[in-house]
Amino acid sequence: MSRQRIVVVEDEPDIVEILRYNLEREGYLVDSYTRGEDVLEALQGNPPDLLLLDLMLPGMDGLEITRKLKRNPATARIPLIMLTAKNEEVDRIVGLELGADDYLAKPFSLREVVLRVRAVLRRGEPGLGAEDVIRVGRLELDIPAHRFFVAGQEVLVTATEFKLMKVLMERAGRVQTREQLLSDVWQYADNVDSRTVDTHVRRLRKKLGQEAALIETVIGLGYRLKA
Ligand code: CA
Repeated sequence: MSRQRIVVVEDEPDIVEILRYNLEREGYLVDSYTRGEDVLEALQGNPPDLLLLDLMLPGMDGLEITRKLKRNPATARIPLIMLTAKNEEVDRIVGLELGADDYLAKPFSLREVVLRVRAVLRRGEPGLGAEDVIRVGRLELDIPAHRFFVAGQEVLVTATEFKLMKVLMERAGRVQTREQLLSDVWQYADNVDSRTVDTHVRRLRKKLGQEAALIETVIGLGYRLKA
Protein backbone atom coordinates (compact mmCIF):
# COMPACT_ATOMS: atom_id res chain seq x y z
CA MET A 1 0.00 0.00 0.00
CA SER A 2 1.33 3.44 -0.84
CA ARG A 3 1.99 5.87 1.95
CA GLN A 4 -0.70 8.38 2.74
CA ARG A 5 0.20 12.00 2.15
CA ILE A 6 -0.60 14.82 4.53
CA VAL A 7 -0.32 18.49 3.67
CA VAL A 8 0.38 20.84 6.59
CA VAL A 9 -0.42 24.54 6.20
CA GLU A 10 1.15 26.47 9.04
CA ASP A 11 3.34 29.58 9.23
CA GLU A 12 5.11 28.74 12.50
CA PRO A 13 8.22 26.76 11.53
CA ASP A 14 8.53 25.05 14.94
CA ILE A 15 5.04 23.62 14.68
CA VAL A 16 5.61 22.50 11.10
CA GLU A 17 8.79 20.70 12.10
CA ILE A 18 7.28 18.95 15.07
CA LEU A 19 4.24 17.86 13.04
CA ARG A 20 6.43 16.70 10.20
CA TYR A 21 8.73 14.72 12.47
CA ASN A 22 5.89 12.95 14.25
CA LEU A 23 3.75 12.26 11.21
CA GLU A 24 6.70 10.96 9.21
CA ARG A 25 7.56 8.68 12.08
CA GLU A 26 4.02 7.28 11.77
CA GLY A 27 4.72 6.50 8.12
CA TYR A 28 2.97 9.44 6.45
CA LEU A 29 4.47 11.60 3.73
CA VAL A 30 4.34 15.25 4.72
CA ASP A 31 4.35 18.39 2.55
CA SER A 32 4.12 21.79 4.12
CA TYR A 33 3.11 25.29 3.04
CA THR A 34 3.08 28.57 4.89
CA ARG A 35 0.81 30.54 2.58
CA GLY A 36 -2.78 29.79 1.66
CA GLU A 37 -2.36 31.11 -1.85
CA ASP A 38 0.31 28.48 -2.55
CA VAL A 39 -1.58 25.58 -1.09
CA LEU A 40 -4.74 26.21 -3.10
CA GLU A 41 -2.71 25.99 -6.26
CA ALA A 42 -0.85 22.87 -5.13
CA LEU A 43 -3.92 20.94 -4.01
CA GLN A 44 -5.78 21.47 -7.24
CA GLY A 45 -4.02 18.84 -9.30
CA ASN A 46 -2.67 16.62 -6.55
CA PRO A 47 -5.09 16.19 -3.64
CA PRO A 48 -3.50 14.76 -0.48
CA ASP A 49 -5.16 12.22 1.81
CA LEU A 50 -5.50 14.82 4.52
CA LEU A 51 -4.98 18.51 5.13
CA LEU A 52 -3.87 20.01 8.46
CA LEU A 53 -4.74 23.67 8.19
CA ASP A 54 -3.82 26.43 10.60
CA LEU A 55 -6.49 29.11 10.84
CA MET A 56 -4.19 32.06 11.54
CA LEU A 57 -2.00 32.54 8.50
CA PRO A 58 -0.47 35.58 6.87
CA GLY A 59 -2.44 36.61 3.81
CA MET A 60 -5.39 34.37 3.14
CA ASP A 61 -6.54 32.85 6.44
CA GLY A 62 -7.58 29.29 7.13
CA LEU A 63 -11.31 29.94 6.94
CA GLU A 64 -11.00 31.57 3.56
CA ILE A 65 -8.91 28.64 2.35
CA THR A 66 -11.55 26.22 3.66
CA ARG A 67 -14.28 28.16 1.87
CA LYS A 68 -12.38 28.01 -1.41
CA LEU A 69 -11.51 24.33 -1.05
CA LYS A 70 -15.09 23.34 -0.30
CA ARG A 71 -16.43 25.32 -3.23
CA ASN A 72 -14.21 23.51 -5.70
CA PRO A 73 -15.33 19.95 -6.59
CA ALA A 74 -11.67 18.98 -7.18
CA THR A 75 -10.77 19.73 -3.55
CA ALA A 76 -14.12 19.61 -1.69
CA ARG A 77 -13.63 16.07 -0.44
CA ILE A 78 -10.13 16.40 0.98
CA PRO A 79 -10.37 15.51 4.68
CA LEU A 80 -9.47 18.58 6.72
CA ILE A 81 -8.38 19.09 10.32
CA MET A 82 -8.09 22.69 11.49
CA LEU A 83 -5.34 23.83 13.83
CA THR A 84 -6.77 26.50 16.10
CA ALA A 85 -5.72 28.56 19.06
CA LYS A 86 -7.70 28.65 22.31
CA ASN A 87 -9.15 32.06 21.57
CA GLU A 88 -10.43 31.06 18.15
CA GLU A 89 -13.55 29.24 19.26
CA VAL A 90 -15.86 31.16 16.96
CA ASP A 91 -13.59 30.48 13.99
CA ARG A 92 -13.51 26.83 14.93
CA ILE A 93 -17.29 26.61 14.75
CA VAL A 94 -17.34 28.50 11.47
CA GLY A 95 -14.70 26.10 10.15
CA LEU A 96 -16.78 23.09 11.09
CA GLU A 97 -19.80 24.70 9.44
CA LEU A 98 -17.77 25.23 6.30
CA GLY A 99 -16.88 21.56 6.11
CA ALA A 100 -13.82 20.86 8.24
CA ASP A 101 -13.85 17.33 9.65
CA ASP A 102 -12.26 18.07 12.96
CA TYR A 103 -9.97 20.49 14.79
CA LEU A 104 -7.00 20.44 17.10
CA ALA A 105 -6.68 23.23 19.63
CA LYS A 106 -3.18 24.51 20.34
CA PRO A 107 -1.26 23.59 22.34
CA PHE A 108 -2.00 20.05 21.24
CA SER A 109 -0.31 16.88 22.37
CA LEU A 110 1.41 14.94 19.63
CA ARG A 111 -0.39 11.81 20.64
CA GLU A 112 -3.65 13.63 20.10
CA VAL A 113 -2.52 14.77 16.65
CA VAL A 114 -1.67 11.24 15.59
CA LEU A 115 -4.94 9.84 16.95
CA ARG A 116 -7.06 12.48 15.21
CA VAL A 117 -5.19 12.06 11.95
CA ARG A 118 -5.67 8.30 12.01
CA ALA A 119 -9.34 8.64 12.92
CA VAL A 120 -10.07 11.07 10.09
CA LEU A 121 -8.18 8.97 7.55
CA ARG A 122 -10.04 5.87 8.67
CA ARG A 123 -13.38 7.55 7.99
CA GLY A 124 -12.54 7.62 4.31
CA GLU A 125 -11.97 3.88 4.12
CA PRO A 126 -14.77 1.49 3.30
CA GLY A 127 -15.89 -0.43 6.38
CA LEU A 128 -15.15 -4.14 6.57
CA GLY A 129 -18.13 -6.32 5.84
CA ALA A 130 -20.17 -3.26 4.99
CA GLU A 131 -23.27 -3.67 2.93
CA ASP A 132 -22.85 -2.29 -0.55
CA VAL A 133 -25.76 0.11 -0.51
CA ILE A 134 -27.85 1.32 2.40
CA ARG A 135 -31.24 2.86 1.72
CA VAL A 136 -33.49 4.73 4.11
CA GLY A 137 -36.48 6.46 2.53
CA ARG A 138 -35.16 8.54 -0.33
CA LEU A 139 -31.60 8.44 0.98
CA GLU A 140 -29.08 6.09 -0.55
CA LEU A 141 -25.50 5.48 0.53
CA ASP A 142 -23.22 3.60 -1.84
CA ILE A 143 -20.46 2.41 0.47
CA PRO A 144 -17.80 1.06 -1.91
CA ALA A 145 -18.15 4.07 -4.20
CA HIS A 146 -18.33 6.48 -1.25
CA ARG A 147 -21.27 8.31 -2.80
CA PHE A 148 -24.45 9.67 -1.28
CA PHE A 149 -27.76 10.26 -3.05
CA VAL A 150 -30.83 12.16 -1.96
CA ALA A 151 -33.93 11.46 -4.03
CA GLY A 152 -31.73 10.10 -6.80
CA GLN A 153 -29.47 13.15 -6.91
CA GLU A 154 -25.86 12.82 -5.83
CA VAL A 155 -24.89 15.09 -2.94
CA LEU A 156 -21.20 15.79 -2.27
CA VAL A 157 -20.28 14.93 1.30
CA THR A 158 -17.02 14.91 3.21
CA ALA A 159 -15.61 11.69 4.66
CA THR A 160 -16.92 12.66 8.10
CA GLU A 161 -20.39 13.50 6.82
CA PHE A 162 -20.40 10.19 5.00
CA LYS A 163 -19.48 8.27 8.13
CA LEU A 164 -22.05 10.15 10.19
CA MET A 165 -24.73 9.46 7.58
CA LYS A 166 -23.73 5.81 7.52
CA VAL A 167 -24.03 5.45 11.28
CA LEU A 168 -27.41 7.22 11.33
CA MET A 169 -28.73 5.14 8.42
CA GLU A 170 -27.50 1.83 9.82
CA ARG A 171 -29.23 2.68 13.09
CA ALA A 172 -32.33 4.31 11.63
CA GLY A 173 -35.16 4.55 14.10
CA ARG A 174 -32.84 4.46 17.09
CA VAL A 175 -31.63 7.47 19.04
CA GLN A 176 -27.90 8.12 18.87
CA THR A 177 -26.52 10.20 21.70
CA ARG A 178 -23.89 12.84 20.95
CA GLU A 179 -21.44 10.82 23.02
CA GLN A 180 -22.13 7.73 20.96
CA LEU A 181 -21.68 9.63 17.72
CA LEU A 182 -18.46 11.27 18.93
CA SER A 183 -17.12 7.86 19.79
CA ASP A 184 -18.30 6.00 16.67
CA VAL A 185 -17.75 8.67 14.04
CA TRP A 186 -14.90 10.74 15.50
CA GLN A 187 -13.35 8.04 17.65
CA TYR A 188 -13.15 10.38 20.62
CA ALA A 189 -12.48 8.59 23.86
CA ASP A 190 -14.54 11.03 25.85
CA ASN A 191 -17.03 13.77 25.27
CA VAL A 192 -14.67 16.56 24.25
CA ASP A 193 -17.01 18.83 22.36
CA SER A 194 -20.53 17.83 21.45
CA ARG A 195 -20.86 20.93 19.30
CA THR A 196 -18.79 19.14 16.68
CA VAL A 197 -21.70 16.73 16.29
CA ASP A 198 -24.28 19.51 16.12
CA THR A 199 -22.47 21.45 13.41
CA HIS A 200 -22.05 18.33 11.31
CA VAL A 201 -25.71 17.42 11.68
CA ARG A 202 -26.68 20.95 10.69
CA ARG A 203 -24.54 20.67 7.60
CA LEU A 204 -25.99 17.29 6.70
CA ARG A 205 -29.53 18.60 7.06
CA LYS A 206 -28.69 21.43 4.70
CA LYS A 207 -27.43 18.89 2.19
CA LEU A 208 -30.52 16.72 2.60
CA GLY A 209 -32.66 19.62 1.38
CA GLN A 210 -36.31 18.55 1.30
CA GLU A 211 -35.43 15.39 3.23
CA ALA A 212 -33.81 17.35 6.09
CA ALA A 213 -36.59 16.48 8.53
CA LEU A 214 -35.48 12.84 8.35
CA ILE A 215 -32.79 13.68 10.90
CA GLU A 216 -34.71 14.30 14.09
CA THR A 217 -33.32 16.05 17.15
CA VAL A 218 -34.13 14.18 20.32
CA ILE A 219 -33.97 16.93 22.92
CA GLY A 220 -31.50 16.30 25.70
CA LEU A 221 -30.20 13.14 24.00
CA GLY A 222 -29.01 13.37 20.44
CA TYR A 223 -30.26 12.49 16.99
CA ARG A 224 -32.31 9.88 15.22
CA LEU A 225 -32.86 9.15 11.57
CA LYS A 226 -36.52 8.41 10.86
CA ALA A 227 -36.85 4.80 9.78
CA1 CA B 1 -0.40 30.58 12.50
